[in-house]
Amino acid sequence: MLNEEAILNKIKVSPGYPSKERFLKGPVAVIECPEEIPCNPCEEACPFGAIKVGEPITNIPMLIEDKCVGCGKCISACPGLAIFLVNINYSEKEAAISLPYEFFPLPNVGDEVDVLNREGKFICKGKVIKVIEGEDHTWIITILIPKEFFEVARGIKPLKGGVFFGKKENYMSL
Ligand code: SF4
Ligand code: SF4
Repeated sequence: MLNEEAILNKIKVSPGYPSKERFLKGPVAVIECPEEIPCNPCEEACPFGAIKVGEPITNIPMLIEDKCVGCGKCISACPGLAIFLVNINYSEKEAAISLPYEFFPLPNVGDEVDVLNREGKFICKGKVIKVIEGEDHTWIITILIPKEFFEVARGIKPLKGGVFFGKKENYMSL
């Protein structure tokens, strides 16, 4: 099983990962889907044509970064919970990360939450600044985190007694 560093290295060379320059320009989708799987709802979900899968459907999704306006519509369209919105310019010291979430109860705006990496390990505390309902049982939670964690913060620990209500294959061990 790959560790966090190996996973990140693989994702960073995939076509769904934004360039350094694009991160600096503001909110941008980060597509963490580096395997050839038959899937493409992300392509249809983007109203700006910023995601391309094309033919065959097993192509790895490509982010056309100059077309991405950071609207976040693609986040809840992804059945694999593999798309995030990252704004490294939220403030001098904070980045904002919007991530898919499929547990009840939902966190509230203002809550302090435990932020997890891709392996489900705690990395830092975060503050919830937005909770919105996406499509197909997936909610979108936006958190503020110390800027240095923008590449690794990819989940939050469900609240005590939290119940998973999403798709079974998306369950992350805690
Ligand atoms: S954030 Fe918006 S513009 Fe960017 S890829 Fe997703 S849906 Fe398209
Ligand atoms: S919808 Fe999600 S899982 Fe499917 S191809 Fe797009 S990024 Fe990958």
